[in-house]
Amino acid sequence: MTMPAQRTTIRLDRRKFLAAASALVAAGVLPKSALALSGPHSFTHGTFNVMVLSDGTLELPLSIISADAPPEELAALLGLAADAQAAPAEISPVLVTAGSDAILFDTGTGGMMGPNAGGQLVESVKAAGLTADAITKVIFTHAHPDHLWGTIAADGTHVFPNASYHLAEAELNFWSAPDLATQMPADMTDMINNTQKQLTAMKDKIVTFKPGSEVVPGIAAIDTAGHTPGHVSFELAGGDGLILTGDAITVPAVFFAHPEWKFGFDADGEMAGKSRRALLDMAAAGKKQMLGYHWAFPGLGRAEAKDGAFVYVAS
Ligand SMILES: [Zn+2]
Repeated sequence: MTMPAQRTTIRLDRRKFLAAASALVAAGVLPKSALALSGPHSFTHGTFNVMVLSDGTLELPLSIISADAPPEELAALLGLAADAQAAPAEISPVLVTAGSDAILFDTGTGGMMGPNAGGQLVESVKAAGLTADAITKVIFTHAHPDHLWGTIAADGTHVFPNASYHLAEAELNFWSAPDLATQMPADMTDMINNTQKQLTAMKDKIVTFKPGSEVVPGIAAIDTAGHTPGHVSFELAGGDGLILTGDAITVPAVFFAHPEWKFGFDADGEMAGKSRRALLDMAAAGKKQMLGYHWAFPGLGRAEAKDGAFVYVAS
Protein backbone atom coordinates (compact mmCIF):
# COMPACT_ATOMS: atom_id res chain seq x y z
CA MET A 1 0.00 0.00 0.00
CA THR A 2 1.78 3.07 -1.21
CA MET A 3 0.34 6.36 -2.30
CA PRO A 4 3.36 8.38 -3.29
CA ALA A 5 1.55 11.14 -5.18
CA GLN A 6 -1.05 11.62 -2.51
CA ARG A 7 1.60 11.48 0.19
CA THR A 8 3.40 14.41 -1.33
CA THR A 9 0.28 16.52 -1.42
CA ILE A 10 -0.62 15.62 2.10
CA ARG A 11 2.86 16.27 3.40
CA LEU A 12 2.68 19.84 2.16
CA ASP A 13 -0.75 20.40 3.59
CA ARG A 14 0.28 18.84 6.87
CA ARG A 15 2.65 21.71 7.39
CA LYS A 16 -0.41 23.90 7.64
CA PHE A 17 -1.89 21.39 10.06
CA LEU A 18 1.21 21.78 12.18
CA ALA A 19 1.08 25.53 12.25
CA ALA A 20 -2.59 25.20 13.03
CA ALA A 21 -2.00 22.86 15.96
CA SER A 22 0.53 25.26 17.45
CA ALA A 23 -1.90 28.13 17.06
CA LEU A 24 -4.55 26.07 18.80
CA VAL A 25 -2.34 25.55 21.82
CA ALA A 26 -1.27 29.19 21.87
CA ALA A 27 -4.86 30.37 21.63
CA GLY A 28 -5.81 28.38 24.72
CA VAL A 29 -9.05 26.48 25.01
CA LEU A 30 -12.47 27.04 26.42
CA PRO A 31 -13.52 25.79 29.83
CA LYS A 32 -14.93 22.29 29.78
CA SER A 33 -18.40 22.14 28.42
CA ALA A 34 -21.19 21.42 30.85
CA LEU A 35 -23.05 19.66 28.06
CA ALA A 36 -21.56 16.23 28.73
CA LEU A 37 -23.20 16.06 32.12
CA SER A 38 -26.47 17.70 31.22
CA GLY A 39 -27.57 14.74 29.11
CA PRO A 40 -27.85 14.09 25.41
CA HIS A 41 -30.01 15.71 22.79
CA SER A 42 -32.27 12.78 21.86
CA PHE A 43 -34.67 12.15 19.01
CA THR A 44 -35.89 9.31 16.84
CA HIS A 45 -35.05 9.01 13.17
CA GLY A 46 -36.70 6.16 11.28
CA THR A 47 -36.05 3.05 13.37
CA PHE A 48 -33.08 4.65 15.13
CA ASN A 49 -32.85 6.38 18.47
CA VAL A 50 -30.29 9.14 18.08
CA MET A 51 -28.50 10.80 20.99
CA VAL A 52 -26.09 13.66 20.42
CA LEU A 53 -23.47 13.44 23.16
CA SER A 54 -20.73 15.86 24.16
CA ASP A 55 -17.04 15.19 24.63
CA GLY A 56 -16.53 18.86 25.49
CA THR A 57 -15.25 21.68 23.34
CA LEU A 58 -12.15 23.01 21.69
CA GLU A 59 -11.32 26.35 20.20
CA LEU A 60 -10.54 27.00 16.54
CA PRO A 61 -8.37 29.99 15.64
CA LEU A 62 -9.96 31.92 12.76
CA SER A 63 -6.71 31.47 10.82
CA ILE A 64 -7.38 27.73 10.88
CA ILE A 65 -11.08 27.93 10.08
CA SER A 66 -10.02 29.37 6.77
CA ALA A 67 -7.05 31.25 5.39
CA ASP A 68 -9.13 32.08 2.30
CA ALA A 69 -10.94 35.04 3.88
CA PRO A 70 -9.85 38.10 5.88
CA PRO A 71 -10.31 37.52 9.64
CA GLU A 72 -12.93 40.33 9.82
CA GLU A 73 -15.03 38.59 7.17
CA LEU A 74 -14.81 35.30 9.04
CA ALA A 75 -15.70 37.03 12.31
CA ALA A 76 -18.75 38.61 10.65
CA LEU A 77 -19.89 35.26 9.23
CA LEU A 78 -19.50 33.74 12.69
CA GLY A 79 -21.33 36.59 14.42
CA LEU A 80 -18.20 37.44 16.43
CA ALA A 81 -16.57 40.77 17.22
CA ALA A 82 -14.38 42.06 14.36
CA ASP A 83 -11.20 41.47 16.38
CA ALA A 84 -12.09 37.91 17.41
CA GLN A 85 -9.21 35.49 17.05
CA ALA A 86 -10.95 32.17 17.60
CA ALA A 87 -14.32 30.47 17.66
CA PRO A 88 -15.54 27.69 19.95
CA ALA A 89 -16.20 24.29 18.43
CA GLU A 90 -18.18 21.51 20.03
CA ILE A 91 -17.03 17.90 20.01
CA SER A 92 -20.24 15.91 19.63
CA PRO A 93 -20.04 12.15 19.11
CA VAL A 94 -23.40 10.60 18.26
CA LEU A 95 -24.87 7.49 19.85
CA VAL A 96 -27.42 5.55 17.83
CA THR A 97 -29.35 2.60 19.15
CA ALA A 98 -30.69 0.18 16.56
CA GLY A 99 -32.14 -3.17 17.64
CA SER A 100 -29.58 -4.73 19.97
CA ASP A 101 -26.80 -2.44 18.79
CA ALA A 102 -25.55 0.69 20.57
CA ILE A 103 -23.44 2.45 17.96
CA LEU A 104 -21.09 5.30 18.74
CA PHE A 105 -19.90 7.57 15.94
CA ASP A 106 -16.36 8.74 16.86
CA THR A 107 -14.85 8.74 20.33
CA GLY A 108 -13.62 12.28 20.99
CA THR A 109 -10.16 13.24 22.22
CA GLY A 110 -9.79 10.89 25.18
CA GLY A 111 -8.52 13.98 27.02
CA MET A 112 -5.23 13.55 25.14
CA MET A 113 -5.30 16.87 23.26
CA GLY A 114 -4.87 18.93 26.41
CA PRO A 115 -6.83 19.24 29.64
CA ASN A 116 -9.61 21.40 28.23
CA ALA A 117 -10.16 19.82 24.84
CA GLY A 118 -12.75 17.10 25.18
CA GLY A 119 -12.27 13.95 27.21
CA GLN A 120 -15.78 13.84 28.66
CA LEU A 121 -17.37 11.24 26.41
CA VAL A 122 -17.59 8.41 28.94
CA GLU A 123 -19.43 10.69 31.37
CA SER A 124 -21.68 11.77 28.53
CA VAL A 125 -22.48 8.14 27.68
CA LYS A 126 -23.42 7.63 31.34
CA ALA A 127 -25.58 10.75 31.30
CA ALA A 128 -27.38 9.14 28.35
CA GLY A 129 -28.26 6.18 30.57
CA LEU A 130 -25.70 3.72 29.18
CA THR A 131 -22.30 2.48 30.28
CA ALA A 132 -19.17 2.26 28.14
CA ASP A 133 -19.40 -1.53 28.01
CA ALA A 134 -22.87 -1.31 26.46
CA ILE A 135 -21.44 0.12 23.23
CA THR A 136 -21.40 -2.65 20.60
CA LYS A 137 -19.92 -0.77 17.64
CA VAL A 138 -17.80 2.32 17.15
CA ILE A 139 -18.00 3.73 13.63
CA PHE A 140 -15.41 6.36 12.68
CA THR A 141 -15.68 9.23 10.23
CA HIS A 142 -11.87 9.47 10.22
CA ALA A 143 -8.85 8.97 12.45
CA HIS A 144 -7.96 12.50 13.57
CA PRO A 145 -7.18 12.90 17.30
CA ASP A 146 -10.49 14.57 18.21
CA HIS A 147 -12.40 11.66 16.61
CA LEU A 148 -10.38 8.57 17.56
CA TRP A 149 -8.15 9.19 20.55
CA GLY A 150 -10.98 8.42 22.97
CA THR A 151 -10.85 4.75 21.92
CA ILE A 152 -7.81 3.39 23.80
CA ALA A 153 -6.98 4.78 27.25
CA ALA A 154 -3.45 5.82 28.21
CA ASP A 155 -3.00 2.48 30.03
CA GLY A 156 -3.81 0.57 26.83
CA THR A 157 -7.28 -0.58 27.83
CA HIS A 158 -10.26 -0.31 25.49
CA VAL A 159 -12.59 2.45 26.65
CA PHE A 160 -15.55 0.67 25.00
CA PRO A 161 -14.44 -2.92 25.68
CA ASN A 162 -17.26 -4.73 23.90
CA ALA A 163 -17.25 -2.68 20.72
CA SER A 164 -16.02 -3.60 17.27
CA TYR A 165 -14.39 -0.74 15.35
CA HIS A 166 -15.50 0.27 11.88
CA LEU A 167 -13.19 2.38 9.77
CA ALA A 168 -13.01 3.13 6.05
CA GLU A 169 -10.39 0.98 4.39
CA ALA A 170 -8.62 3.99 2.82
CA GLU A 171 -8.41 5.74 6.18
CA LEU A 172 -6.99 2.70 7.95
CA ASN A 173 -4.45 2.15 5.17
CA PHE A 174 -3.31 5.76 5.28
CA TRP A 175 -2.72 5.91 9.03
CA SER A 176 -1.31 2.38 9.25
CA ALA A 177 1.57 2.94 6.83
CA PRO A 178 4.69 2.05 8.87
CA ASP A 179 6.66 4.90 7.30
CA LEU A 180 3.95 7.54 7.74
CA ALA A 181 5.80 9.52 10.43
CA THR A 182 8.90 9.70 8.26
CA GLN A 183 6.82 11.17 5.41
CA MET A 184 5.49 13.99 7.59
CA PRO A 185 7.04 16.97 9.38
CA ALA A 186 8.83 15.97 12.57
CA ASP A 187 6.41 17.93 14.76
CA MET A 188 3.64 15.56 13.72
CA THR A 189 5.47 12.48 14.96
CA ASP A 190 3.82 12.41 18.41
CA MET A 191 0.35 12.76 16.91
CA ILE A 192 0.97 10.04 14.34
CA ASN A 193 2.54 7.78 16.96
CA ASN A 194 -0.46 7.99 19.28
CA THR A 195 -2.90 7.39 16.44
CA GLN A 196 -0.87 4.39 15.27
CA LYS A 197 -0.59 3.11 18.85
CA GLN A 198 -4.37 3.22 19.19
CA LEU A 199 -4.95 1.59 15.80
CA THR A 200 -2.50 -1.19 16.69
CA ALA A 201 -4.33 -1.83 19.96
CA MET A 202 -7.63 -1.84 18.06
CA LYS A 203 -6.54 -3.99 15.15
CA ASP A 204 -8.10 -7.36 16.05
CA LYS A 205 -11.49 -5.70 16.32
CA ILE A 206 -11.32 -3.43 13.27
CA VAL A 207 -13.78 -4.05 10.44
CA THR A 208 -13.13 -2.00 7.32
CA PHE A 209 -15.74 -0.75 4.88
CA LYS A 210 -15.83 1.15 1.64
CA PRO A 211 -17.81 4.33 0.98
CA GLY A 212 -21.07 3.62 -0.80
CA SER A 213 -21.71 0.54 1.32
CA GLU A 214 -23.91 0.10 4.37
CA VAL A 215 -21.82 -0.24 7.52
CA VAL A 216 -24.84 -1.65 9.31
CA PRO A 217 -28.34 -1.99 7.85
CA GLY A 218 -29.76 1.49 7.23
CA ILE A 219 -26.47 3.33 7.83
CA ALA A 220 -24.53 4.05 4.63
CA ALA A 221 -21.04 5.54 4.29
CA ILE A 222 -20.66 8.50 1.94
CA ASP A 223 -17.27 9.29 0.39
CA THR A 224 -16.21 12.73 1.65
CA ALA A 225 -12.45 12.31 1.21
CA GLY A 226 -10.23 15.37 1.43
CA HIS A 227 -10.29 16.32 5.10
CA THR A 228 -8.34 13.06 5.41
CA PRO A 229 -7.66 10.54 2.63
CA GLY A 230 -10.42 8.18 3.78
CA HIS A 231 -12.85 10.59 5.43
CA VAL A 232 -16.48 9.48 5.25
CA SER A 233 -19.83 10.89 6.30
CA PHE A 234 -22.86 8.69 7.02
CA GLU A 235 -26.52 8.69 6.09
CA LEU A 236 -29.12 7.11 8.35
CA ALA A 237 -32.18 5.84 6.49
CA GLY A 238 -35.60 7.11 7.50
CA GLY A 239 -37.69 10.07 6.40
CA ASP A 240 -35.68 12.17 3.96
CA GLY A 241 -32.45 10.95 5.54
CA LEU A 242 -30.12 12.13 8.29
CA ILE A 243 -26.49 12.85 7.44
CA LEU A 244 -23.69 12.73 10.00
CA THR A 245 -21.22 15.05 8.32
CA GLY A 246 -18.12 14.37 10.43
CA ASP A 247 -15.53 16.96 9.45
CA ALA A 248 -16.69 17.37 5.84
CA ILE A 249 -18.30 20.61 7.08
CA THR A 250 -16.72 21.86 10.30
CA VAL A 251 -18.17 25.38 10.62
CA PRO A 252 -21.60 25.78 8.97
CA ALA A 253 -21.71 29.59 9.17
CA VAL A 254 -18.62 29.70 6.96
CA PHE A 255 -18.65 26.64 4.72
CA PHE A 256 -22.32 26.56 3.68
CA ALA A 257 -21.79 29.97 2.08
CA HIS A 258 -18.26 29.16 0.86
CA PRO A 259 -17.95 25.40 0.29
CA GLU A 260 -14.66 25.76 -1.58
CA TRP A 261 -12.84 27.74 1.09
CA LYS A 262 -10.13 25.60 2.59
CA PHE A 263 -10.35 24.52 6.22
CA GLY A 264 -6.92 24.62 7.88
CA PHE A 265 -6.97 21.00 8.98
CA ASP A 266 -8.01 19.61 5.60
CA ALA A 267 -5.28 17.32 4.26
CA ASP A 268 -6.25 18.07 0.67
CA GLY A 269 -8.18 21.33 0.62
CA GLU A 270 -9.28 21.11 -2.98
CA MET A 271 -10.59 17.58 -2.66
CA ALA A 272 -12.27 18.49 0.63
CA GLY A 273 -14.02 21.42 -1.08
CA LYS A 274 -15.39 19.16 -3.81
CA SER A 275 -16.58 16.62 -1.26
CA ARG A 276 -18.18 19.39 0.83
CA ARG A 277 -20.09 20.84 -2.11
CA ALA A 278 -21.26 17.39 -3.25
CA LEU A 279 -22.51 16.60 0.25
CA LEU A 280 -24.32 19.94 0.53
CA ASP A 281 -25.84 19.50 -2.94
CA MET A 282 -27.12 16.09 -1.99
CA ALA A 283 -28.45 17.26 1.38
CA ALA A 284 -30.17 20.35 -0.04
CA ALA A 285 -31.74 18.50 -2.99
CA GLY A 286 -33.01 15.74 -0.72
CA LYS A 287 -34.11 18.07 2.13
CA LYS A 288 -32.06 15.90 4.46
CA GLN A 289 -31.32 16.60 8.10
CA MET A 290 -27.65 17.12 8.90
CA LEU A 291 -25.74 16.64 12.12
CA GLY A 292 -22.33 18.29 12.48
CA TYR A 293 -19.70 16.98 14.89
CA HIS A 294 -18.27 20.44 15.62
CA TRP A 295 -21.42 22.55 15.11
CA ALA A 296 -23.13 24.49 17.91
CA PHE A 297 -24.75 21.83 20.11
CA PRO A 298 -26.70 19.77 19.17
CA GLY A 299 -25.56 20.54 15.63
CA LEU A 300 -28.76 19.74 13.77
CA GLY A 301 -29.68 21.65 10.64
CA ARG A 302 -30.46 21.59 6.94
CA ALA A 303 -28.93 23.08 3.81
CA GLU A 304 -30.88 25.22 1.38
CA ALA A 305 -29.38 26.06 -1.99
CA LYS A 306 -29.00 29.80 -2.63
CA ASP A 307 -27.02 31.81 -5.20
CA GLY A 308 -24.67 28.99 -6.08
CA ALA A 309 -23.97 28.15 -2.46
CA PHE A 310 -26.01 27.19 0.61
CA VAL A 311 -27.77 28.64 3.61
CA TYR A 312 -27.68 26.88 6.96
CA VAL A 313 -31.07 26.42 8.58
CA ALA A 314 -30.82 25.19 12.16
CA SER A 315 -33.38 22.55 13.16
ZN1 LIG B 1 -12.74 17.14 14.03
